[in-house]
Amino acid sequence: MEPKNNLMEKITSLAKRRGFLFQSSEIYGGINACYDYGPLGVELKNNIKRAWWDTMVSCRSDIEGIDASILMHPKVWEASGHIDNFTDPLVDCKKCKRRFKEGDVLEEAREKDIKGILRCPVCGGELTKARQFNLMFKTHMGPVEDKASEIFLRPETAQGIYVNFRNVLDSTGQHIPFGIAQIGKAFRNEITPGNLTFRLREFEQMEMQYFVKPKEATKYFDEWLKKRKEWYIDLGLNRSKVRIREHKEGELAHYAKKAVDIQFEFPFGFAELEGIHNRSDYDLKQHEKFSGKDLDYVDPVTHEKYLPWIVETSGGVDRAALAFLIDAYTEVEGGRSEKKQTVHEKEVVLKLDKQLAPVKVAVLPLLRKPELKKVAMEVFEQVKGEFKAQYDETGSIGKRYRRQDEIGTPYCVTIDFETLEDKAVTVRDRDTMKQERVEIKNLVEYLKVKFGC
Ligand code: ATP
Repeated sequence: MEPKNNLMEKITSLAKRRGFLFQSSEIYGGINACYDYGPLGVELKNNIKRAWWDTMVSCRSDIEGIDASILMHPKVWEASGHIDNFTDPLVDCKKCKRRFKEGDVLEEAREKDIKGILRCPVCGGELTKARQFNLMFKTHMGPVEDKASEIFLRPETAQGIYVNFRNVLDSTGQHIPFGIAQIGKAFRNEITPGNLTFRLREFEQMEMQYFVKPKEATKYFDEWLKKRKEWYIDLGLNRSKVRIREHKEGELAHYAKKAVDIQFEFPFGFAELEGIHNRSDYDLKQHEKFSGKDLDYVDPVTHEKYLPWIVETSGGVDRAALAFLIDAYTEVEGGRSEKKQTVHEKEVVLKLDKQLAPVKVAVLPLLRKPELKKVAMEVFEQVKGEFKAQYDETGSIGKRYRRQDEIGTPYCVTIDFETLEDKAVTVRDRDTMKQERVEIKNLVEYLKVKFGC
C-alpha cells in the first residue's frame, strides 16, 4: 500500500530531530533494522512498558512478573519447535545476488518465464529454489566455537515463562487460572525488515501467558483479546484504526489452536501490533517431554491432575511506540494561534496520551531576565521531583511552546513579571491551549490532579 501523506518520512524526521530514535551505530553508516532510542524515545518506551506492567501485573493479583535470561538452554528451542519451524523460505537471485522471501516474490514477481521459473523482482534474473532459513541468531557459549557450544539469542520471551512455570507456581502459591508476565528483548534475523521500527532484528516484547483449565481456554481467549485491544485504545489509539484479524487454518503457527492479531492502521496499511494465541498445552507438553520434568498442575480442591492450557498475549514495545507516535502526530496548517501574525507556519502537535508523553511539564521563563530565571529554576526544582520536566529559556515563548507541542508535552508552565508580584504561574494545556493561573505553592498538587495521580 502507498504511504499516506509521507507520514512515515515525517515521523522518521521528527524522531531523529527531536531525539526519539537514531539508527544504531549511525556514525559507521548504521546497521540494518536496529535502532537506538534517544532521550525522548526511551522515556516514551519506558512509559509504555510501565503502563503495560501496571495493567498486566501491578493491578492484578492473579499475574506474576518475571525477568528471564536471554540466553537459554539450547534444548528449549528444540522443544519449542523453533529449530524446525521458525523459518522463512528464501530465494536468491543468481544474477544480482539479492535475497527475497519466497512469499514476497510470488506476490511481486513481474514475470515468470515459460518454464514457470520465478524471476527476480529487481533485475529479472533467475532465482534459486527456495531454501528454509532459520530466523534465530546463533552464537557460542564459552571459549570453544563448536556444535556443542551453539546457543541462540531468544526469538521470543515466552519460552522463559514456560520453563519457569513450575518455579513460579511453587514459589507464589498461585492457583489456576493465573498468569506470568515478562518484558524483554527478543532477536530475529528478519529477512525483510523495514518501516522504521516496525520490523527490527532486535526488539522488545511484552508477553503474558495465562494458564487455564483446558475447558476454559476459549472463554479466557475472548476476555484477553477484548482487554488487550481496549488497552491500546485507552492509551490513545484511534478506535477506527484498530481492528482484529483472525488467522485462517493454513496460517496458524505450529503451536496455535487459535490466533487473532490486534492490528493498527499504519501508513503502510493494517499490520500486527499484538497477537493473542490459544496455545493449548503444546508448550508445557513439549517441555515435559524434552526436560523429563513433571509440569502437571494438581487442583487443590478436586485433586484433578492436568497440564494447563495457555492463552498468550504477545505484543511488541517498539511497534506499540511507533503506533502511538503515528496516531498522535497532528499537523495544523497555518498554526493554532488566533493572534494576528504575519507568518502562520504549519504546526506539529504530538497528541500523545499524558501517561505516555516523554516530558510531562516544561518550565519556561517568559524572558531571559535574571529575576524571572531565578523563580523559574525554583519552580523547575519543585516540579522535576514529581514529573519528568524540562527547563527551556531559549527563543521566543511562542517558539518554545511549539517545541514542546512537537514532542507532546502536556503542560507548559510560564513564569512572567506578574509572577514576581502574585507568586503564580501560567499553565498552558497542549491540546486546548487554554491558560490557567496557578499559585506556585499549589502547582504540584494542581499538576497531580491533571495527570490523575
Ligand atoms: P509478524 O507477523 O509481523 O512477523 P509475528 O506474528 O511473527 O509478527 P509474534 O511472534 O506473534 O509476531 O510476536 C509478538 C509481537 O512481537 C508482534 O505482535 C510484534 O508486536 C512484536 N514483533 C515480532 N517481530 C518483531 C520484529 N521483527 N520487530 C518488532 N517487533 C516485532
